[in-house]
Amino acid sequence: MAKVLVFIDNPGAALKKSSLELLTIARSLGETVAAVNGELHDDVASTLAAYGTQALYRPSAADLDDYLVGPKAAFLAAAADAAGADVVLAENSAEGKEIAARLGIRLGAGVITDVVAVDPDGTAHKSVLAGSYTTTAKATTPVSVLTVKPNSVTPEPAVTGTAPESIPVQVPDVTAAAARVTARTEKPASGRPDLSEARVVVAGGRGVDGNFGPLEELADALGAAIGASRAATDAGWIGHDAQIGQTGKTVAPQLYISAGISGAIQQKAGMQTAKVIVAVNKDAESPVFEIADFGIVGDLFQVLPQATAEIKKRRG
Ligand SMILES: Cc1cc2nc3c(=O)[nH]c(=O)nc-3n(C[C@H](O)[C@H](O)[C@H](O)COP(=O)(O)OP(=O)(O)OC[C@H]3O[C@@H](n4cnc5c(N)ncnc54)[C@H](O)[C@@H]3O)c2cc1C
Repeated sequence: MAKVLVFIDNPGAALKKSSLELLTIARSLGETVAAVNGELHDDVASTLAAYGTQALYRPSAADLDDYLVGPKAAFLAAAADAAGADVVLAENSAEGKEIAARLGIRLGAGVITDVVAVDPDGTAHKSVLAGSYTTTAKATTPVSVLTVKPNSVTPEPAVTGTAPESIPVQVPDVTAAAARVTARTEKPASGRPDLSEARVVVAGGRGVDGNFGPLEELADALGAAIGASRAATDAGWIGHDAQIGQTGKTVAPQLYISAGISGAIQQKAGMQTAKVIVAVNKDAESPVFEIADFGIVGDLFQVLPQATAEIKKRRG
């Protein structure tokens, strides 16, 4: 049976949905073990048990979060060696991919990024060329490293779960040579879900003309995250971390509401795998309607407030 090591980087008080997804995929491939960096809260430990984690590898060294990716990759490589892992699963974030690349070099392992599904035999499925093709890939090396996009599977706990054994891993001393984080500034919390993981996304483009207010009200009525096209982020109407598309974030929510976005190929690349796409655009010829499941031809400043009012009414 394959041994699958899931990397969980500084989980905080509770595991993120994307971590639960990795644990769910791991179980479909073989025996799950986890390498957890950072403090281990009781809730996190019990969730790891509930998701069928057999063993927990913990760094013996100082807090790795004071460093950039190098020491984390070193820890993960030592954990993969100690576990005898055949597959390592990590997040598909920019940091997750960089750690995967460094891990690939350390282990001589094939690395596959942007994975959207994994077959039980380890074959990975990827969405490529701005989402226009789906390809399959399998590493031919003894160990493979996969970074998996969020919202790829529905998290499911194991049928039975027992507390995993905790195993300390000696982290090679790369910390001396590594750049050190000297200060952190907390990003103001919006109270909305994380864009990459949100089940509902409301995204605005040039058509919002600098006013994201109606989108924010709709997003709050739906518990959604706010996204944007590059035209909107380049105009400075919203931060660059809200950009969705080829050079922004890739999202795959259950529902994507696109407002005042024309649907350029670079924008589609980041959102076309959404389950249901609703487009609001005043131009009936706009290409966004080619991929929309529901299209509303109209002015977003009239359509969105009506939608928000109706949702609020129905929710009571
Ligand atoms: C290398 C490269 C990478 C890129 N990466 C990205 C990326 O990651 N993400 C991305 O989004 N773009 C990206 N772009 C830019 C992309 O090509 C488009 O220029 C951009 O997506 C357009 O943004 P938009 O749809 O908001 O603006 P526009 O194309 O100007 O469309 C605005 C739309 O709003 C509609 N509208 C206007 N007013 C209203 C109203 N009141 N109510 C309803 N509808 C209204 C208009 O009919 C129009 O369809 C990239 C481009 C390049 C070259």
